[in-house]
Amino acid sequence: MDKMRQFGYQLQQRLAQFLYGRNGYDNLARACNAMAIILLLINIFAQSVIIYFLWVALFGYSIFRVYSKNVPKRYQENQKFLSMTEVPRKYIKLLRLQWRDRSVSRYYLCKGCHQQIRVPKGKGRIEIRCPKCGERFIRKT
Ligand SMILES: [Zn+2]
Repeated sequence: MDKMRQFGYQLQQRLAQFLYGRNGYDNLARACNAMAIILLLINIFAQSVIIYFLWVALFGYSIFRVYSKNVPKRYQENQKFLSMTEVPRKYIKLLRLQWRDRSVSRYYLCKGCHQQIRVPKGKGRIEIRCPKCGERFIRKT
């Protein structure tokens, strides 16, 4: 039993050593992985060679990112990815909050600055003023 524990410990050490100085699982790697999984599921029905190669490419790229040792470069790519997808990510977050608080609140994104605004539900048609940029818009709550 003691030997097993020692073996487990050694394995953990090896893994830590191996991952040290590597990029790890960042947002871009996660996004590629998620897309790869979606493609895999689609391909159960579609059975397309093109989708299969796309899956291999995306999955391979996400693994490459995790184990890459060029951390500054990968960091830059990840930041670029985050800034490019900022608006859609805000919408996804909004939908999640909208669903979570669906019985009490409504959420809107300001058209001017994409600030997220929360309004109590059931107040009828009201004018909402963005606290960040002052933009006004009318919504039914
Ligand atoms: Zn605004």
